[in-house]
Amino acid sequence: MLHRRLGQTGLQVSALSFGAWVTFGNQIADDTARTLLHAAYDGGVNFFDNAEGYADGRAELVMGRILHDARWPRASYLVSSKVFFGDDYKGPNGRGLSRKHVTEACHAALRRLQVEHLDLFFCHRPDPTTPVAETCRAMHDLIAQGKVLYWGTSEWSAAEIQAAREVCARHNLHAPVVEQPQYNLFHRERVEREYAPLYDAEPGLGTTIWSPLASGLLTGKYNAGVPADSRLTVKGLEWLRDRVTTDQADKLARVPALAAIAAELDTTLPRLAVAWCLANPRVSTVILGASRPEQLRENLGALDVLPRLTPEVLARLDAIAGPVAT
Ligand code: NDP
Repeated sequence: MLHRRLGQTGLQVSALSFGAWVTFGNQIADDTARTLLHAAYDGGVNFFDNAEGYADGRAELVMGRILHDARWPRASYLVSSKVFFGDDYKGPNGRGLSRKHVTEACHAALRRLQVEHLDLFFCHRPDPTTPVAETCRAMHDLIAQGKVLYWGTSEWSAAEIQAAREVCARHNLHAPVVEQPQYNLFHRERVEREYAPLYDAEPGLGTTIWSPLASGLLTGKYNAGVPADSRLTVKGLEWLRDRVTTDQADKLARVPALAAIAAELDTTLPRLAVAWCLANPRVSTVILGASRPEQLRENLGALDVLPRLTPEVLARLDAIAGPVAT
């Protein structure tokens, strides 16, 4: 496994990591989740991604039981949670980025995941109803208490991240050092352009990128219709089904040409699509998702494809997928 530094921090994260969205506590049986987490760890993955909102907290409960039973050395893995969407408690203070919810969400994640600290704790979305200074101070305090090691954001604009940095610099608080954005062949603007000024400026910016396969679009399997066992048939994800099959029809039409390049390179489209994310050195880790072990095995093979992504191949992929907007 290849490791990369998380931005300018001293943390080494495996280039491929593994996340629980849709699957743990929802789409897949707990036994399958156990098989997958072990396969990821055995394959060299050292970062497991989770959130209070995944299956209303059940994804963390399932992952926590597996981590507890596995008894892996704590130094050998990183685990995250994210706060914003809330868990199964739906009252007014059960979501958002207030000091109360950030603190209680951290405590709940520690209990569910059965760990003494979260390696990474993300603000899952910006919260316009809470002053950013309140959130920064709450995150700083959790770090000072040893409950969180690094904090970051997910899908915040560059301006929102910069505002948080300025508050932290002014008040000498631990600043956000990592962002979790969507990034894949069809979704590039933020990582490649909007965040560009943030990577080298203090305190740096690591990226743990999500949906490298655009929820399966970049596997080619939706070109023949929606398979009955895919996430697009999971109850509550009708919005995702519409997005993949209707709103993104133009993208779907470009997938076969990408698959042809994968075949030329003697690999598969999922491997090519994951390797493409890693070709960007600003990507600290690509968070994989999988609902079955064969998928995970296939996607972990992406590292072998990385050396085949020459500038010429990358330019051909740009020509099909569409380069980032200028
Ligand atoms: P992907 O875009 O890679 O989608 C993964 C899904 O695609 C799998 O669950 C599976 O779904 C299908 N799939 C995966 N590999 C293959 C394969 N080789 N062949 C065929 N189908 C395959 O990633 P995710 O959207 O799952 O995102 C990864 C992680 O990122 C999440 O688990 C979560 O931790 C994080 N995330 C963070 C978000 C945020 O807002 N911060 C938002 C979304 C995700 P199926 O069951 O349909 O086969």
